[in-house]
Amino acid sequence: MKFNTKTIHGGQEHDKAYGSVMPPIYQTSTYAQSTPGGHKGYEYSRTHNPTRNALEKSFASIENGNHGLAFGSGLAAIDAVIKLLKPGDEVISTNDLYGGTYRLFTKIYEAFGIKFHFIGMENASKIEMYINKNTKLIWVETPTNPMLNIIDLEAVSKIAKKYEVLLAADNTFATPYLQKPLDLGADIVMHSATKYLGGHSDVVMGALVVKEKELADKLYFIQNASGAVCGPQDSFLVLRGIKTLHVRMQRHCENGRAIAAYLEQHPKIEKVYWPGLKTHPNHDIAKAQMKDFGGMLSFTTKGNSYEASIRIVEKLKIFTLAESLGGVESLSGHPASMTHASIPKEEREKTGVIDSLIRLSVGIEDIDDLISDLDQALL
Ligand SMILES: *Cc1c(COP(=O)(O)O)cnc(C)c1O
Repeated sequence: MKFNTKTIHGGQEHDKAYGSVMPPIYQTSTYAQSTPGGHKGYEYSRTHNPTRNALEKSFASIENGNHGLAFGSGLAAIDAVIKLLKPGDEVISTNDLYGGTYRLFTKIYEAFGIKFHFIGMENASKIEMYINKNTKLIWVETPTNPMLNIIDLEAVSKIAKKYEVLLAADNTFATPYLQKPLDLGADIVMHSATKYLGGHSDVVMGALVVKEKELADKLYFIQNASGAVCGPQDSFLVLRGIKTLHVRMQRHCENGRAIAAYLEQHPKIEKVYWPGLKTHPNHDIAKAQMKDFGGMLSFTTKGNSYEASIRIVEKLKIFTLAESLGGVESLSGHPASMTHASIPKEEREKTGVIDSLIRLSVGIEDIDDLISDLDQALL
């Protein structure tokens, strides 16, 4: 089955009771038993729920994995991965990382004796310098947030395999429409399904997908034992979202390309960060591992003024100033005052998050309206 069919049919079957084409929302915590243990495969909804299971099969299908797991948020999914580890274990992670992931690693798990190394992985061989006998996991985000750096997943996975270390990839920005980390050698793929998979900014959810049964069993155990599952309503919504993922992504990419081109020639713009631009330092790797380049982009303005950037995001009308990304509607964000405000100026500037940086999640509206909106805001 091809990807554009998997988004709609992958892992899905029509409801056995009445043939409903969409899975019913099984809004139940428990299931009747005829005799102790006499049930139809479902006992309690933390452990299993038919609507959630339908979604988990869809997750597995679109990422070319064998086992999918749905969680109450992206961070709950990451939390489950770190629970595979024990005190003394070490993790090597990308340094330009989603802020919440960084907070989870440093503020929660360092206190439990897990050590994290945050490094630039644009040159994958750098990872080897940090590997020792305690290294158990490599955590990668690509493209990264908000600088849209690209990491070579195949190169990182070769290193992970050589040292028998697990490789997990946060595929939130790219989605499986653009790149499939499991096919490139990752062991675990993770999503904030809140973003593109849900696609409509109406639900918070996380996902994991793996190929290996043994690893899946460990993660299912953690999912049930820790209990950070998502509810049946939310499962239904994300399953519905996934059915249009390929169509939405196609338009996100088209609009992203047009806006990158528009910004590049604008006299007030200093720099545009979008992996599809030939000027992007890892454009060639992006081109090799991604089908297209997505709808996330960042830019800076000449003069690097904090205030001028605030005025731009305030003036934008169709681009709503808001956290999050990946929905059908366009959003803007100013990392220095929003997502990265808690990071000291010198620290954030090291990774490129300077005062004038603006991040756009380009939606699927008409491109003419989006460009007019940017035009009036940049005046
Ligand atoms: C939003 C996001 C997360 C966290 O997901 P939640 O659903 O908000 O918990 C993790 N990684 C990336 C790249 C994200 O954009």
